[in-house]
Amino acid sequence: MSSLVVPPASPRAPARGRLAPSPTGRLHLGNAFAFLMAWLHARASGADVVLRMEDIDPDRSRPEFAEGIMEDLAWLGITWDEGPQGEGREERGSHGPYVQSARFDRYAALLKDLEARGLIYPCYCTRKELRLLASAPHIGDEGAPYTGTCRNLSAAARARMEASGRKACLRLDTQAALTALGLSQTSIFFHDAVLGPQCLSLDGCGGDFALRRSDGVFAYQLAVSVDDAAMGITQVVRGEDLLSSTPRQRLLLFLMGAHPPTYAHLPLVHDAQGERLAKRHKALEITALRRAGIRPEAIIGYLGFLAGCRAQPEAARPEALLPEFALSSLKGRRLELPQNIMDVLHSSLII
Ligand code: GLU
Repeated sequence: MSSLVVPPASPRAPARGRLAPSPTGRLHLGNAFAFLMAWLHARASGADVVLRMEDIDPDRSRPEFAEGIMEDLAWLGITWDEGPQGEGREERGSHGPYVQSARFDRYAALLKDLEARGLIYPCYCTRKELRLLASAPHIGDEGAPYTGTCRNLSAAARARMEASGRKACLRLDTQAALTALGLSQTSIFFHDAVLGPQCLSLDGCGGDFALRRSDGVFAYQLAVSVDDAAMGITQVVRGEDLLSSTPRQRLLLFLMGAHPPTYAHLPLVHDAQGERLAKRHKALEITALRRAGIRPEAIIGYLGFLAGCRAQPEAARPEALLPEFALSSLKGRRLELPQNIMDVLHSSLII
């Protein structure tokens, strides 16, 4: 573990939350809801907020999206204590760099360590979804669990694959990892602050998951786990579509000897037709709402109303929502925007 510096968090470690956007598009109301909840949870528990830009996917990340996201967050009043700040985006904080593309050496160090412990193997299966590994898997992205085809390839078979020009991705041998940790179960338990107790089988969450793509790009699961540990993150608040990533990340954190953070997985925001908000909902992007003359307080107040902090969608600054905020009240809540959301936001008054 020589080059792998991971200060393990402990229950007494200072509370630290994070905003971890992927700069693959602009923020829409659904992303803003998740970031507001992460911010409120951090502020309510006296945690510092870290902003980490998750730009490891070379095909989908754009610097202009990173800039736009930070602008949108700041405009909404969702602030952060560490990370890129101000006009020049200079980094504040002692856990940087806060941009994943500047942290590759850390990801490589963990891979090296896991390799030395015999916990990863090359996989030559070509699957279309391998392309997506550098992005967090949202609903519909994951495909079937890995079948284990390449787990026990002989050295000769591997050499043949390499000689034929096949490039391998690297997978974690989850069974070997559990054994190395002295764990006999194949499920990972944790308490979710919204959903309650969770027990998810690693097989059900993709089996032996990839840590590096065959083109050398690091996988989201690896980068996030290394960074959460190294940045001393003690609380993770994010959308429910990332629930199946949590057992994988906890396993990696255990392998690093780090204390895993607490988790809260939030219900997702839907449009009036019941569709989950996504990149195609351009009209519901924060930048579009801003251009339409809507005030940030109207958006925050509406999101606070969605979260149950307010009985009515009335305008508010983020800190005004703190007294009524409780993650647990989000359990089972259906978050659906009305058809006339623009009118509601336009007519929202400061009360
Ligand atoms: N960067 C990821 C995304 O925007 C979220 C990662 C996380 O919260 O773990 O989907």
